[in-house]
Amino acid sequence: MHGILILGAGPAGAAVALGLRRLGYPVTLVSDWRRFAALEGVSLRVLEALRGAGLEQALAQALQASQRRVAWNGEEHAQNIEYLLDRPAFDRGLREALREAGVQLIEGRVLGVQSSEAGHRVQVQGQAELVGEFLVEARGRQAPALGKTLRHGDGQALRGAPTLSLLNRWQGPGGSAASAVYSLEDGWAWMARREDGQCYWQLTLDVASAGLPGKAQLLAYCRQRRQASALAREFFAGGEERQLHLHARSSTAILSPQVCGANWLRVGDAAMAVDPLSGNGIFQSLSSALQAPAVINTLLQRPQRAALAQRFHGQRVEQLFLRFARIGRDFYAAEQRWPEQPFWQARRCWPDPQPAHAAADFAALRIERAPVLRDGLVDEADVVITPDQPLGIWHVQGVELAPLLRRLQQQPAAQALADLGPEQGRGVRGWLLAQGYRP
Ligand code: FAD
Repeated sequence: MHGILILGAGPAGAAVALGLRRLGYPVTLVSDWRRFAALEGVSLRVLEALRGAGLEQALAQALQASQRRVAWNGEEHAQNIEYLLDRPAFDRGLREALREAGVQLIEGRVLGVQSSEAGHRVQVQGQAELVGEFLVEARGRQAPALGKTLRHGDGQALRGAPTLSLLNRWQGPGGSAASAVYSLEDGWAWMARREDGQCYWQLTLDVASAGLPGKAQLLAYCRQRRQASALAREFFAGGEERQLHLHARSSTAILSPQVCGANWLRVGDAAMAVDPLSGNGIFQSLSSALQAPAVINTLLQRPQRAALAQRFHGQRVEQLFLRFARIGRDFYAAEQRWPEQPFWQARRCWPDPQPAHAAADFAALRIERAPVLRDGLVDEADVVITPDQPLGIWHVQGVELAPLLRRLQQQPAAQALADLGPEQGRGVRGWLLAQGYRP
């Protein structure tokens, strides 16, 4: 019997495994390799999150910085630096980090999982069945939908419009690293080139309206679409395309109807998969994974707090999903040349009209009891709910905000903030001003 079984060694599964090892749990992780090679663009924020998760060494062979160009709504400009992540190298680095941390790594394809309150039985191709007490589902977009035995209630997954990405990868002549994103009447494309000449072009389309040809013609279709774009022609500058590969991937945004039970939890894309337009997939998968070890620790050590722990994970996953879905929506709405085209029409208003970031309003701050993380466990505390942070904030610069807000409501600012050290005082004042506080 294994204690904790994790399925999937992408960034989410790896981050959970390392976090659990830090809490002293033995961990068994089963994973296949991704069946396609891709380049992915990540921001500095993702690199910081990966370093925070102890996954820095996975980046060593995988990263190249590039200046990103954006051609959107008829305007073209150079944007910030993005880092090109070679996924096969990154995925190999993740496994090395896991082995070094003492995670038992089983390479193989999971064929089936049977779950009950007593535990989980996992069938792995060509290997003995595994039995575990707790299961972490981190198989990314390939994770099967929740089985009937795990579901309670009949909540439905929240889904964006069905979306497909066609990935082309080939070997071209070497050069400087570069990347660019551009919009099209029926979708958008992202392209990148590494110094070693590895080239990558990814076209994202609306499944319902794309009118794609059959599989046999798909490669020729992609080539024709690439050549029809002046930007792509210039970007790849007539280089020969050797070893051209095609892979089609769903990139529909999906939020699982439930992400946590008494003895299981979903993280990463298995919990919520975002639209690749925001370039935030890895960031988001890490965000849900970094909190998971404390949630699992609580479910195993403090079963009396199970409802609180499940609420913590579920609410955070949902909030993250909605925030990124709204950011994606605003990107789509910023392209205004083809509002009637099915691709843009289906995406410019989804998931709702709420702003991605709510405006600050000091008068709207309120105190609520909510789940928080304390000493590796989910606990309950008074937090400050703001219009932009509906799940609440507990501390800023190590200062508990709820008592501070109570003092501010009763005393002049100088008195309410008098006990804070200089650095804490600066941090807290900065936060209050950002919330619209005007003393
Ligand atoms: P994954 O990284 O998908 O890892 C899942 C692991 O589980 C894999 O190792 C897989 O082999 C394994 N697995 C799956 N099924 C089985 C099975 N049956 N048995 C055993 N193992 C299995 N994000 C970015 O940050 N930047 C980008 O530029 C970007 N571009 C994207 C483009 C597209 C078209 C798409 C669809 C996504 C993109 N993403 C991007 C998102 C990013 O790839 C994911 O968000 C991220 O990899 C999710 O991490 P994860 O650990 O949840 O899952």
